[in-house]
Amino acid sequence: MAIQYYSTNRSLRLEGFRPFTKLVSFPEALLMGQAPDGGLFMPAEIPRPDPAIFARLQGRPYAAAAVEVMKLYLGELVSGTDLEEICRRAYDFEVPLEPAGGRRYVLRLDRGPTASFKDFAARLMSRLMSHFRPPSGRLNVLVATSGDTGSAIGEAFKGVEGIDVFILYPAGEVSPRQKKQLDTIGKNVSTLMVSGKFDDCQEMVKRAFLDPELAGLNLTSANSINIGRVLPQCVYYIWAYAQVAAGVEKVVISVPSGNFGNAFGCEIARRMGLSLERLLMPTNANDEFPAFLADGEYRKVSPSRPCISNAMNVGHPSNLARFFDIYGGMMDREGRVHRLPEMDKMRESIFSVSVSDDETRRTIGEAWRERRLLLEPHGAVGWKGLNDFLSASGFKGPAISVETAHPAKFPEEIERILGFTPDSPPSLAALDSREGEAINLEGGYPDFKAFLLENAAGEE
Ligand SMILES: *Cc1c(COP(=O)(O)O)cnc(C)c1O
Repeated sequence: MAIQYYSTNRSLRLEGFRPFTKLVSFPEALLMGQAPDGGLFMPAEIPRPDPAIFARLQGRPYAAAAVEVMKLYLGELVSGTDLEEICRRAYDFEVPLEPAGGRRYVLRLDRGPTASFKDFAARLMSRLMSHFRPPSGRLNVLVATSGDTGSAIGEAFKGVEGIDVFILYPAGEVSPRQKKQLDTIGKNVSTLMVSGKFDDCQEMVKRAFLDPELAGLNLTSANSINIGRVLPQCVYYIWAYAQVAAGVEKVVISVPSGNFGNAFGCEIARRMGLSLERLLMPTNANDEFPAFLADGEYRKVSPSRPCISNAMNVGHPSNLARFFDIYGGMMDREGRVHRLPEMDKMRESIFSVSVSDDETRRTIGEAWRERRLLLEPHGAVGWKGLNDFLSASGFKGPAISVETAHPAKFPEEIERILGFTPDSPPSLAALDSREGEAINLEGGYPDFKAFLLENAAGEE
C-alpha cells in the first residue's frame, strides 16, 4: 500500500483545539496543503530502498533518480510510464556537481527556470497536482508572494495541463527584476498586482479559500509546507550521494537553511539509507536553531534579521515542526514547544552554526581566490558551515555543500566583493526579451473575487 500521511499536531491536547488524527493519502495531503488542525503532513513511514540503489544511480541522469525515489512514495498511485514522463519534463536542465578541492563538492541546484533550488520541488509538485486533479474540472492555484517564490511556482505550473495559477504580489514590494519575472510568465499563469502590502495579498488569498461563493472553483495553494514540495527535495541528496560515494562511504552535506524545507529533504534521505556522518544546517544571523541546539531553549527571532542571504531571513522556520516530530518532539505552528525532541540524538545528527554577513562576504572572496569557486550569499553560508564542521571534526570523507541560487541573481553583491559580474544562465538571460503585463487589482478583495469568478474555471 502507498504511504500515508499524518499531521504533526495529531497528539496536541489543548483546550478548544481539535487535533486531526486521521491518516490521509498522498493526493489528499498534496491538495490539502496543510492539515486542518494547522499541522504539517508527515509520511507515516519512510521507505528504505535496497542499498544497491546508490551504485545503480551512479552516472545516471537526474531524472532517473527522481523516478526511482518518487516511485517508493507513490507506489501504484502513478504508473511507471506516467512517472517517467513527469520527471523527464520536470528535470530538463543540468545539475552540476562541481569538484571544489580535496573531497569537497558543490551541488549546484541553480539551473532551473528561476535559478533557485525551489524549481526542483515546484516543477515536480505542479505535475503531480495536475496528475491528481479532480477529474471533473480544473484546479486553481492561488499564490501570494513577495518575490521569488511566486515566480518559481508560476514557472513550474506554466503550461501544466488542467491547472490555472493566480499570483498576487504587492506593487511596491518587489524589485524591478522580480516584477519582470512575475509579469511575463504568461500562458495559464495570471499575475495580479495589488496596491498594498504582502500581508494584504495573503489576506485576500485566505479570504478566497473561505468564500462559499468560490467553493466550486477547486482552489488550492502551493506553499512551501506542502508535502509535495518536501518529498522531491530528498532526490538530489540521494543522486549526489550516488555520484560521490556510490553508497559505500559516510558523507557530510551542508544545506544553507531558512525555513528548513530543503534540509528536511536531506533528513528524509538519511532515513532512506543515505549514510550521513552529519547533516549541516548553517543559518544566517537568524540563529534561533543553532541557539536551540546549544542550550535546548527555543526562542524565535522576531522580527527576523535582514541579511544578504535574503531568502533565509526567517526567524521561525516553518518546517522546524517536522524536525521536532521526527526527533520525537512536538512544536505547534506558533513555535511553542509542547515536547522537546531527543536533544542528544539531534545534536549527534545535526550541526548548525550562524554565519554573519561579514563572514558570508569573506567566504565568497576566499572561495573565489583560493579555489575559483563562485558562490552567492546563500551558498556561501553553506560553504562556511561545511568548512567550520570539517575543521572542528577532522572528517576526511566526501563532503557536499549545496548552492541554492545562481550567483548571477546577486550581481551587485558579487561585483562589490569580486570585482566582476557573473554570467547569467540562459533562463535569466532570456528575461530581458520577455513581454507581459500584470493585471492591476486596485479594488481589494471584491476585485479579486470578481476576477476569479470571471477567469477561473471550476467543475464542469
Ligand atoms: C528558499 C531559499 C533558501 C532556504 O531554503 P529553506 O528550505 O527555506 O531552508 C536558501 N537559499 C535560497 C536561494 C532560497 O531561495
